[in-house]
Amino acid sequence: MSIQSAVWRPYTQHKTMTDLVGIVSGRGPYLYTEDGREILDLVSSWWVNIHGHAHPKIAEAIARQASELEHVIFAGFTHQPAEDLANGLIEKMGPPLKHVFYSDNGSTAVEVAIKIALQFAINTGQPKRKTIVAFEGGFHGDTWAAMAAGATSGFFDTYRKFLAPEIIHLPYPATFEQDPDVVSKEAAALQALEQLLEQRGDEIAGLLIEPLIQGAGGMRFCSTGWLEKVVDRVQQAGVKVIFDEVMTGFGRTGTLFAMDNLNVRPDIVCLSKGITGGFMPFSATVATGEIFDAFLGDSWGQALSHGHSYAGNPIACAAAVASLQLFETENTLDKIAEQTKIHEERLPQLSGTTNHRVRGGIAACELVGQTGYASSKSVGLRGHFLDHGLLLRPLGDTLYLIPPACVSGELLSEAYDRLEIALKEI
Ligand code: PMP
Repeated sequence: MSIQSAVWRPYTQHKTMTDLVGIVSGRGPYLYTEDGREILDLVSSWWVNIHGHAHPKIAEAIARQASELEHVIFAGFTHQPAEDLANGLIEKMGPPLKHVFYSDNGSTAVEVAIKIALQFAINTGQPKRKTIVAFEGGFHGDTWAAMAAGATSGFFDTYRKFLAPEIIHLPYPATFEQDPDVVSKEAAALQALEQLLEQRGDEIAGLLIEPLIQGAGGMRFCSTGWLEKVVDRVQQAGVKVIFDEVMTGFGRTGTLFAMDNLNVRPDIVCLSKGITGGFMPFSATVATGEIFDAFLGDSWGQALSHGHSYAGNPIACAAAVASLQLFETENTLDKIAEQTKIHEERLPQLSGTTNHRVRGGIAACELVGQTGYASSKSVGLRGHFLDHGLLLRPLGDTLYLIPPACVSGELLSEAYDRLEIALKEI
């Protein structure tokens, strides 16, 4: 497709953009271009697609809902899809998570979570708690507080001087298979946390983390043991824990939510991306009963002052309910378990790669000799993989796969064959 387009694209340097691929349709794991090529989507189209493109069950739910009720103001009104979705999420997450706040995308889900944590402190008579802790290399979205939380991700250097609220970034012990330094990295990260709590523990309202895997920061994994210690420790110190499950939610890590791998529970959870199976922009911020109750009061000032025009959109809710049902009817987690096996077998054998790591449907490693997210080499690789019929989008040095669950073990294995050929040509 011509790159003479009126559209200003996301995360794109238009001056050096060399090509634009026109997509006319999608089916299951494939996208089809206007010049008739078939592309295997190994990144779930920015990590949103869960059950495959144009899945008929979700498409039907959307069509049905659109012809019944497309939207209604969500303050003072409700509808069945919003209630069903909230009940479904709460049932899957289990206590103490109890209340669901809807917004439109991952960034706003995080923005809402940060507002809730800061206001919880005010509403409960702890006004000194004005700071949020996040982790080096984390990414939480493109709105202001989310950018502040992701300030060390490398994406927002231009905006750093404008960022608020105050976020303290702690070391993150990123690890991989056979990492010889994991014990010392985790100990150092815990010590930094301990020191912060000693010095400023009573100033911290919330701790925000992408549980188990930092996504855009480079698919950086951490251990369950380390994360459990962090959550336990800060909750003891009166700090509310926010899990940003925007990327990890909905089966990606092999369980429905990343937190299901842990023996601890966060106080607030952010969901988006896969929530509608990849069909509609939508998100949810889920909080405990304790937090919700702290917003009840006689004054307006105690309520959460937040709400988007499209909050609780019925079409998006209907898509999300249909997607949740597919987890049962299509045994989605079993399909992801099949992918895990193939990833574990094939990833370590890929030529020119190192620091392999696999969790659920996500596989990542470093390509030897790359130089950053926007480097011409990294951008060039995208085109190279496309020439092999594979949609892959390395994050600088990091090559990763996060396929929709409908990519069978057999197809994933074939994809690794093609990937190996493509890598050998580099
Ligand atoms: N949190 C995480 C962990 C993410 O990976 C992203 C997007 N990559 C976001 C938040 C922001 O989501 P959105 O792009 O939908 O605003």
